[in-house]
Amino acid sequence: MGDFITSERGPGAPGLHVSNVRLSVLFNVLAVAVMPRARTDWELRLARWVVEGDQCRLGLGMVGFDVSELGWSESEDVFATQKRFLLELVDAALNREGWEHLPSIPGAVEERLFPLLRQLREMVEQFPREGLTPPPEYRWPEGPPENGLCELHRVYLHETGCLLCNDASYDEPAPHRSP
Ligand SMILES: [Zn+2]
Repeated sequence: MGDFITSERGPGAPGLHVSNVRLSVLFNVLAVAVMPRARTDWELRLARWVVEGDQCRLGLGMVGFDVSELGWSESEDVFATQKRFLLELVDAALNREGWEHLPSIPGAVEERLFPLLRQLREMVEQFPREGLTPPPEYRWPEGPPENGLCELHRVYLHETGCLLCNDASYDEPAPHRSP
């Protein structure tokens, strides 16, 4: 089981098949990195999209995505700013930003997370502005996060909880575990 991260319109970019565990860790590291950075409407929607990529919310094997689905602007300037933000976000994850809020990542998972982040970075970098299509409504948020923050993990909450609380084992504190 697992899911795909793709960039079907990117030049020659192969889709990545990613295990559920690695996908979950990917969304976790992006969630802690995006929280302090997101300012504009699109950045905040991206932050919400990240925390909504919780397999406890969408289901296992349901959080794969294509790079084209991220609500890109057709304006050349705005598109360039969006791309720069996303690249900075992936770089922040590569620099372990916000990891003090994360449960420890097993060495074997971490080892495979970094190549995945670098591949994602490459896909974003190569993503072309030409031929943009509207993002899928079921996945791209209509607005910024509106459920507050997890006081323990410092990430935005989605409508039923916190993607990190949902990952925690039952003997750890998890104030926002989804019902
Ligand atoms: Zn939490």
